Amino acid sequence: MTELTNGARITLVGGGCITIKKELGRGGQGIVYLVSYNGKDMALKWYLNAPDKYFYTNLNNNILNGAPSDAFLWPKALTERQNGSYGYVMDLRPKNYFEFGNFLMAKAKFASFDAMLNAAMKICNGFMMLHRFGYSYQDLNDGNFFIDPKTGDVLICDNDNVMPQGEKSGIMGKARYMAPEVVAGGIPDKYSDRFSLSVILFMLFYANHPLEGAKVVACPCMTEAYEKKFYGSEAVFIYNPNDKSNLPVRGIHQNVIRRWPALPTVLRETFTREFSEEMLRNPQKRMIEQNWEKLIATLRDSLVICPHCKGETFIEEGKNTCLNCGKIINTSLQLKLGARTLYLTEGTKLYIDHNNSVDVQVQSDPKAGILLLKNLSPDATWTAETPSGKLKAVAPGDVMPVKAGIKVSFNQNTKGEIVQNN
Ligand SMILES: [Zn+2]
Repeated sequence: MTELTNGARITLVGGGCITIKKELGRGGQGIVYLVSYNGKDMALKWYLNAPDKYFYTNLNNNILNGAPSDAFLWPKALTERQNGSYGYVMDLRPKNYFEFGNFLMAKAKFASFDAMLNAAMKICNGFMMLHRFGYSYQDLNDGNFFIDPKTGDVLICDNDNVMPQGEKSGIMGKARYMAPEVVAGGIPDKYSDRFSLSVILFMLFYANHPLEGAKVVACPCMTEAYEKKFYGSEAVFIYNPNDKSNLPVRGIHQNVIRRWPALPTVLRETFTREFSEEMLRNPQKRMIEQNWEKLIATLRDSLVICPHCKGETFIEEGKNTCLNCGKIINTSLQLKLGARTLYLTEGTKLYIDHNNSVDVQVQSDPKAGILLLKNLSPDATWTAETPSGKLKAVAPGDVMPVKAGIKVSFNQNTKGEIVQNN
């Protein structure tokens, strides 16, 4: 037995020690304990069966290199080998974060599309940074993600399997999230991570697995051999336009049946391409994280607050009826930012860059009967230029009127113009 007792003191690599306070939970691999580290409450993952020396060295390297981004609940300290095993220390997961699986089973629900898009953006950015650091995640699945349903903030956990590109942690991923080439026996890498990323994103938007339709429902009992077929050699996207053998089933896959037509076209087109036969078989052709970020930014640009029902809805070229109330939304007031079009309706939030902080809030001035743009940036002062050439600074917290012809510099690189498109 390698279990630890409350009050036990465990020494750390590089000096210092932690004290076990109590068990928080356990899984197949190990036990998570609440520990005290320099007077601070933290978590210790303790392996029931110590993985090999290579795993230990890799974990130590990851700790020394630090987290690729704040999306990761990264290992912070490694214990010495003792009591027949070892473990690593990380921050505690805050209570307002729920396991992604809970969202799929409707036990947790995003407060808004805005929060959902924040989650998608944070996941894509986390993976982009992870790959830039030269790592691959290897064991991506719905148990690794914890999300705050209110804000969409994400924490990616279980980072102990993160390895340098091309090296194998020895711990196989879950079949449902592994790329077909890994299911067939290949080594996980950034290309297979990209497949797993597209599965996670699909599930985030549609609450259904992209390869689980009629074929999987008809399976009498999910064995390893069937898993290898459905997620590997014979994987078929549920909305593959050329192969309708795995369509979602009414009464079972209600979420995706309802959301697939409701969410924007660009999302359907992207997933149809990413889960096409060609992408399933050619890992190097899969979409890179930066392009997922661009896609999510495009979705964000099209998300507005409906002036009639105050609900969120997406505006598309030639389609401006509200998803909730069905009424037509006047989208004539727009902010043009290069090739981007942002719609200005009361209550809509605008994101100028790809981070997850709102830059502009559209609000109304009921007295003047006009809309205003409020600068929500903590430190950027905008410059507004009227059609006659007058310049006005808009400091953080200040507002400016929404009037056609006004040009706004949000920062050195981003300049926009308010237009009225009747
Ligand atoms: Zn509405």
